[in-house]
Amino acid sequence: MRVIVDEDLCLGCGVCEELAPEVFSMANEPFAEVLVDPVPEEYEDDVRQSVEECPEEAIIITEE
Ligand code: SF4
Repeated sequence: MRVIVDEDLCLGCGVCEELAPEVFSMANEPFAEVLVDPVPEEYEDDVRQSVEECPEEAIIITEE
C-alpha cells in the first residue's frame, strides 16, 4: 500500500496520527506527514481507518 496526504485538504487535526502513529506524524505541523511509504502490511488496516475518519478526506491511498 502507498499513501499520501493532500496538504491542500489537511486541517492538521491529528486524527490520523492517533489512529496510525507509525504511519502519520504531526511533527511537521500544520500538516500530517507520511512517515513510511510504502506502508508495512501490519499498518494497512490502521491507514484504512484513518482514511475513513479523516474529516477532510485528505488521505489518499494511491496503491493497494
Ligand atoms: S486526519 Fe486528515 S485532516 Fe486530520 S491531520 Fe490527518 S490527514 Fe490531516
